[in-house]
Amino acid sequence: MVNFKNSADGTVEQALVSKGVTDKNVLYALRIVPREKFVEEPLKELSYTGAPLPIGHNQTISGIYTVALMTQSLCLNKSHKILEIGTGSGYQAAILSTLCTSVFTIERIRDLSLKARDILGKLNIHNVTFIIGDGTIGFKEYAPYDRIIVTACSPDVPEALFAQLSEGGIMVIPLEMSGSQNIFVIEKKNGKMYSNNIAPANFVRLIGKNGFKS
Ligand code: SAH
Repeated sequence: MVNFKNSADGTVEQALVSKGVTDKNVLYALRIVPREKFVEEPLKELSYTGAPLPIGHNQTISGIYTVALMTQSLCLNKSHKILEIGTGSGYQAAILSTLCTSVFTIERIRDLSLKARDILGKLNIHNVTFIIGDGTIGFKEYAPYDRIIVTACSPDVPEALFAQLSEGGIMVIPLEMSGSQNIFVIEKKNGKMYSNNIAPANFVRLIGKNGFKS
């Protein structure tokens, strides 16, 4: 498990690099976004451990390695428009905001969305649009998206999300199959879906019309 004191501690980066996170831009984003600001007071010391941590409403902020791996797998560039499902604490959205021009993030729990909006505002991040609602149906108004990241575990790839992914686009999504979770990288080529299992995962459930029912 990755374990460091704070983002300025060089061991953060070393540990991530040794686990295969080598994208310079991703490492830079992880260095400049203060992860401890997204974690509740009594848990701040654990901000940089590898484990997911509670953020209220029975939800969790993903461990730093998982955030790093998923972000790297998106192969982002500055011009990308990205949709995130599962705002949670807002940490992943903050990381994405430093790597691309516009980020849309959907959260079903109003309270979490408002709290995340507040934290990002205080960090002076202004290229993230917060949407409250069911992310399993996506957000047609701004589709298509060059990249989609789902940060809750789904029973399969929601069709509506695949439909809103650009041609040549990439979606990163944890899927639960026969009781175990894995992170998949999905690519859309000539309208077809190509998927690749990259790592085991430990996410809360994606609940909604095209996700789990509870
Ligand atoms: N990306 C977050 C971690 C997400 S935890 C972070 O950086 O902190 C997963 C989040 O997905 C939870 O907040 C949960 O409420 C949300 N979620 C679950 N189902 C959802 C749905 N259908 N639409 C939008 N958000 C959903």
